[in-house]
Amino acid sequence: MSALTRRGFLEKLGAGSVAASLPLLLPSVHAATAPYNGPKLNVALCGLGNYARMLAEGLQASQYCRLAGVVTGHADKAAAWQQQYQLPPQNIYNYNNFDGIAHNPNIDVVYIVLPNFLHKPFTIRAAQAGKHVITEKPMATTAADCEAMIAACNKAGVQLAVGYRMHFEPTQQEIMRLGQQKAFGPVRYLEAGLGYKTYNLADANDMVDINDDTQWRLHKTKAGGGPLMDLGVYCVQAARYVLGEEPVAVTAQFGPVHHAQRFTQVEESITWQMQFPGGAAANCTSSYGFNIDKLYASADDGYFELSPALSHGPFTGKTSAGILNIPPINQQASQLDAMAQYIINKQPMPAHINGSEGLRDIRIIEAIYKAAQTGGVVKLV
Ligand code: NAD
Repeated sequence: MSALTRRGFLEKLGAGSVAASLPLLLPSVHAATAPYNGPKLNVALCGLGNYARMLAEGLQASQYCRLAGVVTGHADKAAAWQQQYQLPPQNIYNYNNFDGIAHNPNIDVVYIVLPNFLHKPFTIRAAQAGKHVITEKPMATTAADCEAMIAACNKAGVQLAVGYRMHFEPTQQEIMRLGQQKAFGPVRYLEAGLGYKTYNLADANDMVDINDDTQWRLHKTKAGGGPLMDLGVYCVQAARYVLGEEPVAVTAQFGPVHHAQRFTQVEESITWQMQFPGGAAANCTSSYGFNIDKLYASADDGYFELSPALSHGPFTGKTSAGILNIPPINQQASQLDAMAQYIINKQPMPAHINGSEGLRDIRIIEAIYKAAQTGGVVKLV
């Protein structure tokens, strides 16, 4: 949605007095309305699982980049993708010959959509091959890995971005603005929850082999953690981008647990609290055991809420001034277009989407796990 259309929409909502400017954290790319006819960035998707499909659709819709290659361990997937997207054979890699991408001038960016533990090695390999990197969330399984990824990209002189699609989604941009610009006064309390029930409790045979590659999310060393890493990162992000502040202390509790046989390595559910320097508190939850997708912010002079809030949308909600129902967009195309423009224009990736942002989230997540394990308050300073 263009800035102008969005403003008109907000004025209709009755929130016009606070709708005049774009959210604080966001780049100005969405104000551009003229179609782009310049050269497109060539992107190779690394890992061809579920989310890579959505990114491929985003790349089809993108103005600034295109799907130019793939990296996959499966020859059958390589053949299918090559045919579907008309990819030249020299742009198809596997995990062994991937480093040869260094000699391929027709790939500019490697977009890593692998299980979390592979974000670090493939970011480092892509950077060493001289390619810009976008890696999926969570950035890595540890803060130390995030630091190594940032260092490798800096050393190679390539850009590093994390796939934070919400930063380019108009409903999320609107709640950033409502919170950060204190449209209803300062936010005092915030709730955020994202959970997907990933099994059927009634099914006695619902056992999984965590060494099965398709179950990497249940494997501690592969996922880095459970729903907190996978889904809770959206709650951490939402609290931070609504408040525009960094948490200073966290407390946390594991549970509820209904399927202990399945969750032997990672938590089934977790709830945590974050304290912010301005005095706001956030209570968040994420789970693989129950469904939840909501956000609520209570401010001095009103409130705003979304549900669906933090999944893939479409996002809808209301504020104390009226409904919040901004038309959905292709989130992947919007994110890719924004990130591609920084690379094309040789501008540094801004802090709210680069490696430093991914590192911030992982540090907070590590603190949340420590708080849940110790039962104490963990300070973040
Ligand atoms: P997936 O399991 O569907 O796909 C993972 C891919 O990695 C598969 O193609 C698999 O073959 C490949 N792979 C290579 N080596 C592997 C190994 N050792 N073990 C397991 N798989 C291996 O996962 P997904 O849902 O596509 O998630 C991939 C990444 O994308 C994750 O980091 C996830 O957090 C992220 N993601 C982001 C969003 C978003 O909205 N931004 C949505 C979903 C997933």
